[in-house]
Amino acid sequence: MVFKCQEDSFLKEFTTTVIDCTKAKFSTVINGKKEKIDGFEIVCEDTILFPEGGGQPSDQGFLNNVQVYQVNRRGDKAVHYTKNELSIGESVKQIVDWKRRLDHMQQHSGQHLLTAIIDREFKFSTVSWWLGEEISHIELDTSSISKEQIEKAEYLCNELIRDAKPVNVELLKLNENTDVNQIRARGLPKDHVGDVRIITIENVESNMCCGTHVSNLAQLQVIKLLNVEKSSRKNNVLLNFLVGNRVLEKLGSCLEREQKLITILNNAPSQHFDLVEKLVKTTKILSKNQQSLLKDIAVYEVEKLKGLDQLPKYFMVHRKEGDFDFMNQFIKLINSTDIFLVLSIGEEKGSGNIVLYGKEDVIADLGPKICQILNGKGAGKGNKYQGKVNNLGNLHLVEDLLKSYFK
Ligand SMILES: [Zn+2]
Repeated sequence: MVFKCQEDSFLKEFTTTVIDCTKAKFSTVINGKKEKIDGFEIVCEDTILFPEGGGQPSDQGFLNNVQVYQVNRRGDKAVHYTKNELSIGESVKQIVDWKRRLDHMQQHSGQHLLTAIIDREFKFSTVSWWLGEEISHIELDTSSISKEQIEKAEYLCNELIRDAKPVNVELLKLNENTDVNQIRARGLPKDHVGDVRIITIENVESNMCCGTHVSNLAQLQVIKLLNVEKSSRKNNVLLNFLVGNRVLEKLGSCLEREQKLITILNNAPSQHFDLVEKLVKTTKILSKNQQSLLKDIAVYEVEKLKGLDQLPKYFMVHRKEGDFDFMNQFIKLINSTDIFLVLSIGEEKGSGNIVLYGKEDVIADLGPKICQILNGKGAGKGNKYQGKVNNLGNLHLVEDLLKSYFK
């Protein structure tokens, strides 16, 4: 069975008849979320909605005003998945989501072209391909492909697109003398029945495929090869690519990001990489400096405390820019539970962290109380108690509590 969408991949609307409609549970992705649906499986006499196959995702669209979420091929039938029921014998107008279909046709025909050129030029064959939601890739049976090879392949593909090479679809009739195993190719489903389609890019290549294709390479507009990634299969690489409108969309989002960087870095795009690299290095140095300053502060505070004639019963330290290292350093230097310590870091009147240190019974008693005053939650055992708090503005109330507790 050759579906109408394979006979004419440019039909956007088509009228046909419903020949089967049965209840079915299925899951599909709606607005990026996977949903389970109690719906229907609808089969029509023919369809312009392409059922998933050959690496190409299924079409979406409408049967009259009933939305089709996906189409799957079952033997020689195309099954349309919907939420709503249609009557058997009903005449329906099929409408294909043309933006999605054209995008799939551009990526799929682009893949045929890219595979053919890379095979011809460098003898790397394509062992699989993936049409992704944003970018697609071909998996090549080579452990590496050079920058020069990628540039050459991109140039040759775009040259053929400029030459507007025709793409033809031919039906190969099967009869009892045809050895099906001989002609079965990758991309053709195992349960394929009926005739075989051969897609030919004039003077470039011929390939068996069930997908929908452009009729002329000019309809691809442009092909852009992206980065190379390692494949999960050893000794293979994935070459990412974009075709047609996806190149424009990608360029659009890159320019938007570039514009934002021009504003924030206040410099020309050619300077952006150097500037960001410099910023990252400077930030690392500053953060190291701050760490060592905080350690010095901890040493200074503890020495001051230990130098007092009479040690206080409790001691509170708050450092807005402090971190856990600072608090732990402080505890290590004190090395005594004789003074009850309340260490805090974070925004003066906002959220932050606290660490309490002292005698076990005092910690067990005061830990939860202090956390409650600071509107937070904590936990601890032995001499230490720590927690995340939301209102450091209440530290003065903690001081009031400690004053009356230790008087
Ligand atoms: Zn194909």
